[in-house]
Amino acid sequence: MAAEAFLALDFGGTKLAVGVLSRGQERWLARGRCPTPASEGAAAVFARILQLADEQLARARAQPVAVGVSFDGPVDLPRRRPLRSHHVAGWEDFALCERLQAHYGVPVALENDANAAAWGEWLRGAGRGCRQMLYVTVSTGIGGGLVLEGQLYHGAQGLAGEIGHMVFQPDGPLCSCGRRGCLEALAAGPALLRRYREFLLAQGEGVEGGSSISSARELSAAAQAGDPLARQALQEGAQALGRALGSVLNLLNLERIVLGGGVLGAGEPYLRWVRQAARAVAFAEMTVEIVPAALGEAAPLWGAALLAAELVERYP
Ligand SMILES: [Zn+2]
Repeated sequence: MAAEAFLALDFGGTKLAVGVLSRGQERWLARGRCPTPASEGAAAVFARILQLADEQLARARAQPVAVGVSFDGPVDLPRRRPLRSHHVAGWEDFALCERLQAHYGVPVALENDANAAAWGEWLRGAGRGCRQMLYVTVSTGIGGGLVLEGQLYHGAQGLAGEIGHMVFQPDGPLCSCGRRGCLEALAAGPALLRRYREFLLAQGEGVEGGSSISSARELSAAAQAGDPLARQALQEGAQALGRALGSVLNLLNLERIVLGGGVLGAGEPYLRWVRQAARAVAFAEMTVEIVPAALGEAAPLWGAALLAAELVERYP
């Protein structure tokens, strides 16, 4: 007989991931991933993830009792469908939850990926044991998810938590959202690399010297190897993030901030710079822990699986 499981689907811009979490024991029976066929549109992406999910369910010899979805983009919660994706066309009119419900015949939960990751970290990762938490992922973009009073906070239209699009420099660099000077445009991975290239050019070195650096991790390695410009670019990004977090602390008086995403791979001293900048902005009386995430890339899958679990049993 097939084992009962929660099926977690993670729709990312570059990769699709699927996890089958056993009901009861809460361990992964199977997990798999594949590239997102982004250029082929929403229907093709949907077909691909169903295929991947069916493979993983067969491997796990499991039957889903509920499905949880983490979606890379804002979500229309009342209509239970994606609002849009920055990477894939055609999600706007795609009845994602209804289609999944029709396919599997079980209830379906949907969240944007930052909220799903926040929920995963809060229940099973670095957020355990606190009541007021912000999760921030810093990679090619900056996303955020809020857990307030032990609940995901969605806001009036389900769009809360978008710390990446708080504006700090109205005449600053262009952001992926079309506005200027958002935190994302100052502190996400591409912004750090852009600053590094600007520093190189200002020194008259041309971009060639730094062209081998193409990720925040490489920038961090260069900084650790003694490249002062790499260090400066990382530090500026960390400080912009830290100041934003300090402002958020003054608004929400959080207990803990959990930081995930590729840029956090920079490790120390990045995290130290973030903490210093946050404490310089937040009220001196505030105590907060700013800690790295614990679940890595699996955070949205954990969140999606646990959101699915809530649909069928009292949880947590
Ligand atoms: Zn923006």
